[in-house]
Amino acid sequence: MLLRRSAPIELADPARLLAVIDQRRPPHLGIGSFELSVEPLPLTLRHPWTLSRNTSHAKKNVLITLTRDGITGRGEAAPNVRYGQSWQTTRSALMACRPLLTNVDPFDLGQLAQKLDQALRGHPDARAAIDMALFDWIGKALKLPLHAVLGVRDRQPLTSYTIGIDSPEKIREKIEEAHEFPLLKIKLGTERDQEILSAVRAVTDKPLMVDANEGWTDRKAALKHIQWLQGEGVILVEQPMPAGSENDVRWLREKIDMPLYADESSCHIGHIPRVVGAYDGINVKLMKCGGIFEALKMIALAHSLELGVMLGCMIESSLGITAAAQLSPFVDHVDLDGHLLLAEDPFRGVHIVEGRLHLPAHAGLGVIPA
Ligand code: MG
Repeated sequence: MLLRRSAPIELADPARLLAVIDQRRPPHLGIGSFELSVEPLPLTLRHPWTLSRNTSHAKKNVLITLTRDGITGRGEAAPNVRYGQSWQTTRSALMACRPLLTNVDPFDLGQLAQKLDQALRGHPDARAAIDMALFDWIGKALKLPLHAVLGVRDRQPLTSYTIGIDSPEKIREKIEEAHEFPLLKIKLGTERDQEILSAVRAVTDKPLMVDANEGWTDRKAALKHIQWLQGEGVILVEQPMPAGSENDVRWLREKIDMPLYADESSCHIGHIPRVVGAYDGINVKLMKCGGIFEALKMIALAHSLELGVMLGCMIESSLGITAAAQLSPFVDHVDLDGHLLLAEDPFRGVHIVEGRLHLPAHAGLGVIPA
C-alpha cells in the first residue's frame, strides 16, 4: 500500500515562475553579459560526518558570483564523491559555460535554462550554483525576495536535524546539541544500526526519520530492519536499498506500512518514473537536480503523481541552504540542516528558531556574508 501525503501544501508551478519573471522585468535591463567568478569555498565540519559509505572532516565547495549592471548574484556548488564530483570537475564545468552568460536576457529564463542544461549535463552541482546565482541576481534586480517571486507565504516550515553515524557517546552529545529540533533524522545502514538507535533512544523519544543511504543491500534484511524500526517511533525511511534496486523496494513496499522516500534513486526529474510504485516520496536536492528551477519542476511532477516531497541538502553553507529553503513551503518534509553541521558558516541567510525555518526578507536569496 502506498501512503499518501499528509500535509496540505502549496502547489508548485514552474510555468508561473517564468511568466512572473518575464512580466516584471525592469525596462532598463535587457540583453547583457555577466561576469562570472569561481572560487573554492572551504568548509570545516563541527564533527566528523559519517554515512553508511564514508566519513568527511571538511568539504571544498565552490562559490560563484554573477555580476552585471552593478548587481551581484551568488551561488554555491557542493561537489559530492557519491556522484563522481570534485572541486576540480565542478570548476572546469563552470568555466566552460562562461560563453553562455554573455549577451543573454536573464528575464527570458526558460531559454537561458535550456542552454545551461545542455552545457552542464552531468554536472548538476555546477548547474545548481549558476541557477541560484541567477535567481539571486533576478530577485535583486526586481528588488524582491525570491520566495515572493515564487508567490509563497512564509509558512516557517519545520526542518529536521540530522545525526550522523558516530559512537554512542558522540551521538548523545549531538542529540543534546539538537535540543531545539522537534524532529531528528538519523543515519543508519551499517552493521551498528541497533547500537546507534539504542544510543538515540536512550536520550530522546522525539520522532525520527531514518536514512539508510543505500546501506541495506539485501531485500529480506531491509525488510527486517524496517519492521524493527516500525516499533521505534520512526516516521519514514529514506533510501533503504541501493539506487537501481527499485524492484526490490517495490517488493518491500508491499510488506510494510512505513513511508519510503527515494534519495539516491531519484536525482533528477528523469528518475521519477522509476520510483513510482516503489517509493511514497522523493528527496529533492538542488545539488542533485541542478537548482531551484529543476527542483520546482520535480516538486510539481511529484505532486501530480501524489508522491510526497522532502527537500534535502548536502553539506552546504547558508548560501545553498537558503536557496533551497525558498522552496520549503511546497514540500511535506524539510531536511535543510547542512549549514548547522559546519564549524563556521561563511554566510547568513535563513535562520532557524525552535526547528522552524525563517526565510530572509532581503531581495534575491537574502544571503549576506557572515
Ligand atoms: Mg539521504
